[in-house]
Amino acid sequence: MTNVTSPNWQVKDEQYVWHSMKPYNPNATMIVQSSKGAWITDIEGKRYLDAMAGLWCVNVGYGREDIAKVAYEQLLENTYTPLSVGHIPAIQLSEKISELLGDDYVVFFSNSGSEANEAAFKIARQYHQQKGHVNRTKIISRYRAYHGSSMGALAATGQAQRKYKYEPLAPGFLHVTPPDSYRANEDHIKSKDPCALPSVQAIDHVMTWEMSDSIAAVIMEPIITGGGVIMPHDNYLQGVKAICEKHGALLIVDEVICGFGRTGKAFGFQNYGIQPDIVTMAKGLTSAYMPLSATAVRREIYEAFAGSEEYDFFRHVNTFGGSPAACAVALKNIEIMEQENLFTHSATLGDTLLTALQEQLKEHPHVGDIRGKGLLIGVELVQDKDSKTPLDVTLVNKVIAQCKELGLIIGKNGVTVAGFNNVLTLSPPLIISSDEKDFIVKNFVQALHSIKQ
Ligand code: PMP
Repeated sequence: MTNVTSPNWQVKDEQYVWHSMKPYNPNATMIVQSSKGAWITDIEGKRYLDAMAGLWCVNVGYGREDIAKVAYEQLLENTYTPLSVGHIPAIQLSEKISELLGDDYVVFFSNSGSEANEAAFKIARQYHQQKGHVNRTKIISRYRAYHGSSMGALAATGQAQRKYKYEPLAPGFLHVTPPDSYRANEDHIKSKDPCALPSVQAIDHVMTWEMSDSIAAVIMEPIITGGGVIMPHDNYLQGVKAICEKHGALLIVDEVICGFGRTGKAFGFQNYGIQPDIVTMAKGLTSAYMPLSATAVRREIYEAFAGSEEYDFFRHVNTFGGSPAACAVALKNIEIMEQENLFTHSATLGDTLLTALQEQLKEHPHVGDIRGKGLLIGVELVQDKDSKTPLDVTLVNKVIAQCKELGLIIGKNGVTVAGFNNVLTLSPPLIISSDEKDFIVKNFVQALHSIKQ
């Protein structure tokens, strides 16, 4: 056991650990000692409610013995089996994922969201090849969205600040402007036809001008999370699905953050009445207790790989993807979510949280918009409500630091390009109680007063 009271942890941390995003993240100076439920405790013994946990999707909360026990028992029962061979937890989990998705899907496992998306891109491209459509290689995604850090997932990402130092990335990725219910509201569109939305037509146009038969797939999150909790028009996903069908492209939905109850349903797309061709999911699958991700494809796509030729199978392997312990943990995690009604809890408590914030912050001069679904809430800070110019990031960071002072960890999302890193994110574990929700509201509102002029 290491000596956690050693005064050197901070120094050693600075010296040896290469943190991701350190200068960007005002919470980075903390070293966490332990975590339980919705709370984390640092090495000084200070407790914080982690309302940023949704970004790593600790949906069932920290420190659960029931999950740890399953991991322990499964590691002893069968430590490892590659997915070129079968094992029971993977079979059970694939069936369960298919059931939650509400249709007939076959599941490929990896370890991270980036890898799940890479697998999706390769499956989409090879699927079209198998069907004889050899030119269908291009993937369309949206500006402001994040899809991962590997060269393909980063190419799909629409945040220039994450990309420009690492180019050239994987070729064949195109971007369109996403819908944005705050800055480019589409509610005024009179037609009820989802394809009449300008943000849907933008995709239709790109597919047409690039030539329909060159497009393999579109990838999108139901709600752009990391890019700033950007809400679509209610009909947007239906429109995108229709346009994909019109042009023969597949629709990949990235549920890495929205999945597993974050938006009040098992999957985010279920809020919008569509059924994707491919669904990618990661951290929420195990509530971050173990690395595991999945790429679920409709059976018809899977069956296109079942040819007799040697080269017809999916030539993509992932050593640790779908390990027995990770799958067993995911099954337990899903069982807990179902037994504790966490999807519904997320929807109802999220609604109360959203309403409380909207009421208490409506007069705040720098709160431009408060939006979200379930326990995924974004608060967009602006210089003033008329211009909607993003608030200076030093003031945004001041609120985050003030929250930390008050024992509340919150997130910051957006894109640094043009100063749009101005969205504060509240996404606590889905198990939070009503009292914990009140704690978030009280302290968040108080912290926002520190920038009121
Ligand atoms: N897709 C989305 C929507 C994400 O938010 C993330 C990570 N936050 C990823 C993909 C990549 O996941 P990972 O970090 O596990 O590779």
